[in-house]
Amino acid sequence: METVAPFKEVIDEVKQLGGDAVKYCYQCGKCDTVCPWNQVRKFSMRKLIREAVFGLTEIEKEEIWRCTTCGKCPQRCPRDVKQIDDMIALRRMASGYNVFAAAVKPYRGIAQGLQAQGNPFNEDRKTRADWAEGLGVKPYAEGMDILYFPCCYAAYDPRLKKVAQATAKILNKAGVDYGILGSKENCCGESIRKTGNEALFKKLARENIKTFIDHGVKKILVSSPHCYHTFKNEYPEFNVNFEVIHTSEYVFQLLKEGKLEINKEYAKTVAYHDPCYLGRHNGIFEEPREALQKIPAITVTELPEHHIDSMCCGMGGGRVWAETEKHERFSNIRVEQAIELGAEELVTSCPYCVTALEDSRLVTNHADDIQVKDITEVIAEVMK
Ligand code: SF4
Ligand code: SF4
Repeated sequence: METVAPFKEVIDEVKQLGGDAVKYCYQCGKCDTVCPWNQVRKFSMRKLIREAVFGLTEIEKEEIWRCTTCGKCPQRCPRDVKQIDDMIALRRMASGYNVFAAAVKPYRGIAQGLQAQGNPFNEDRKTRADWAEGLGVKPYAEGMDILYFPCCYAAYDPRLKKVAQATAKILNKAGVDYGILGSKENCCGESIRKTGNEALFKKLARENIKTFIDHGVKKILVSSPHCYHTFKNEYPEFNVNFEVIHTSEYVFQLLKEGKLEINKEYAKTVAYHDPCYLGRHNGIFEEPREALQKIPAITVTELPEHHIDSMCCGMGGGRVWAETEKHERFSNIRVEQAIELGAEELVTSCPYCVTALEDSRLVTNHADDIQVKDITEVIAEVMK
């Protein structure tokens, strides 16, 4: 009994933290066959689940932090083991004991930045709207059609600011009645929740919800599929429902309705990469492709794994802040796949994917062979 009792305590804790479904696993191993980790190194979700069933989880090791929550294995699991919820439960347990493996030690500093300034970079909250300088973007006011919520990366990161700026140019050109909340916004909280920090997620979410309600926000346009997922599927846990639309959907809508016109050719071959949280998690596959297809002279190709089978860039589940060995980045494979297809540009619609793919261009020595763009950057280049 002496050796069993502590394990039972762990089993109960995993259950209480949201990982009860581990008990349904019958060890078929289908999860391991689809997991992108096994294209770069050995990793077994099946083993992690098995250990959790018996209360044998090793919270000091990196393994519990590896899952990028890409959503591939939950779709294949015959027993609905809910691997993403299970991993969040294990991370809640580890972070509850303040145990972080070396690769995820940055999560502590990230949490401090989110707590203090509402963004993971610990940048001054007051500068959150600086990306919009000179673009004529108005502060959001009640009665406007749309709140544009760019995401922390698009607000602060020098590369991703270009995505927010391209989006504002598109909205201006199409005459959309929109505004931004700038320094009043927080991070949506999606990724910190996936690292197991539920209290911080709730704080960020509650503050955002209050701000949205105070300003009479009804419809939110987002650049990040992670903001999309959280606003649409997780904020309703707080008994609110905002209409949420992703920039790739909205751009397609503006083109379809004739509110935005394209007047230039784009004689390039591009490969479209489906972000996990736009495609697999939320079913938005065709709008970005159809928007690209509307551009004259463009050739849009498909990567080897696409639509529902798309390969994760490696940045989900909080991994955007983790240390990943250079040779173990999924996005390296994506860049190689695009180059093999003869693509000149790898186009996507997620700030995390852009970050990962830009980095992989350099890591794989392909900086001169391929460009990485968000779909809004392509559309802004060809619009009238
Ligand atoms: S696919 Fe599901 S049932 Fe099969 S090993 Fe993985 S978690 Fe267990
Ligand atoms: S959700 Fe994706 S990254 Fe996580 S274990 Fe499953 S296949 Fe691997």
